[in-house]
Amino acid sequence: MNLEKKMISNFGKVVVGNKLMRKVLSKKFEKTLYKNMVEKDIPLFSRNAQIDKFNGLRAMYLSVLKNLDRGIISKKYAKRLVETLVEQGFFQDDHKKEAILTFKEKYDMTPPGFVTISPTKKCNLNCIGCYASSTSTTAETLDWSILDKTMTELHDEMGMRFFVISGGEPLMYKSEGKSILDLPRKWKDSFFLIYTNGTLITPDIAKEIAELGNITPSISVEGFENETDYRRGKGVYKGILRAMKNLREEGVLFGVSVTATKKNIDVLLTDKFYDHYFEKLGATYMWIFQYMPIGRKFTTELMISPEQRFKLFKKWKYILSEKQWFVADFWNSAILSKGCMSCGKSGGYFYIDWNGNIMPCVFIPYYKHNVKQLFSEGKKISDALFSDFFVKGREWQKKYFNQNGKLGNMLRPCFIRDHHQTFMDIAIASKVLPQDKSAEEAMKDEGYHKTLIEFDEELKRITDPYWKKEYEKK
Ligand code: SF4
Repeated sequence: MNLEKKMISNFGKVVVGNKLMRKVLSKKFEKTLYKNMVEKDIPLFSRNAQIDKFNGLRAMYLSVLKNLDRGIISKKYAKRLVETLVEQGFFQDDHKKEAILTFKEKYDMTPPGFVTISPTKKCNLNCIGCYASSTSTTAETLDWSILDKTMTELHDEMGMRFFVISGGEPLMYKSEGKSILDLPRKWKDSFFLIYTNGTLITPDIAKEIAELGNITPSISVEGFENETDYRRGKGVYKGILRAMKNLREEGVLFGVSVTATKKNIDVLLTDKFYDHYFEKLGATYMWIFQYMPIGRKFTTELMISPEQRFKLFKKWKYILSEKQWFVADFWNSAILSKGCMSCGKSGGYFYIDWNGNIMPCVFIPYYKHNVKQLFSEGKKISDALFSDFFVKGREWQKKYFNQNGKLGNMLRPCFIRDHHQTFMDIAIASKVLPQDKSAEEAMKDEGYHKTLIEFDEELKRITDPYWKKEYEKK
């Protein structure tokens, strides 16, 4: 176990119980962390890249501490957070160690660190441009017995202890008498991040989440009330406020997730937006997803431009370093995650949808394997990780990350969006299948590919000189 990991766990245990200790230790911790993360020479990473990583980690723990101090996160919840997310995330219990070792021996690679599962496509809302094309009438749902078997393999054979649940609306999941909260109830040693529209978080559900303690809801917003209700439906914002109040009253750590589009980008570039959700409403983290032209009525029109994306990158850096709230942008924060995390790369992730299709990433709607089919043939989910599609994706990631001793431009890390032609070449050669009708149409749409390839060229033109000057290790 490295020093950094040991420090984080010990720090977590002490700080939960005592406010004064939190203050003193947090300063000490910051100094040691800076020494370890910035002053040390780290292969490929320039000092500026290391500073971003440090600012990211510091914003993460400071966001939790600030909300512990404000009483928004209860001590009881925070203790469970340390036992699950911190300890299980940073350490390897004997069982996890054994699972990882066995996987490594068998496949010659460390397993992915987590998975995103969307157990149901059902949703009570009908948002414009939903990446999942969800509705309230769809029947597409993974049976509990399949979900249970999937979780068991991921937990027992890949050593996973962190699970992301998406949708559809996870709180609408019902199968074989089970609800989505039966996952954290069964896998008590693991931590669950659940993306939700928030409208179903009643006082009773918030209480149940608090009692379980190993879940954090990430509630989707689009900006303030106008932007949120425009995309999600009238009255949704008020429902979100109620959900946040219920969670605060139970001391549950929650976050927000926002899709950046041409319609709300100006709001996302203001300080007011971050102040509103962090300072006023008590969020502890924020995910930013830039609109991906996939899913219902996909359109490249809603995508933010390369210039807007670059502005958002600078805003993200400012929020981390100056406001010290934890924000991660799936495309602009690749310095923190060491690039694209898809394709089940070691420590990275992959995605399983409501039909059991296994995909490299939530934003890559193409697959080769299906969980139900694999199980019926006596095979395992790990077999899907070694399809030509996944293997070639990981080869591309490796080559892009380390370009003859230089770190690839982390301002354009995305396999499907920022390197669209490369992605298409790999997808076609691997004979992938589309997840749904929209993905099938996108695959055949020449205009769509042209727009994405032009986007990539423009992003390269804007960010490559900046990357070279500010981030390339000399
Ligand atoms: S494919 Fe794109 S969105 Fe998916 S993990 Fe990689 S960088 Fe992120």
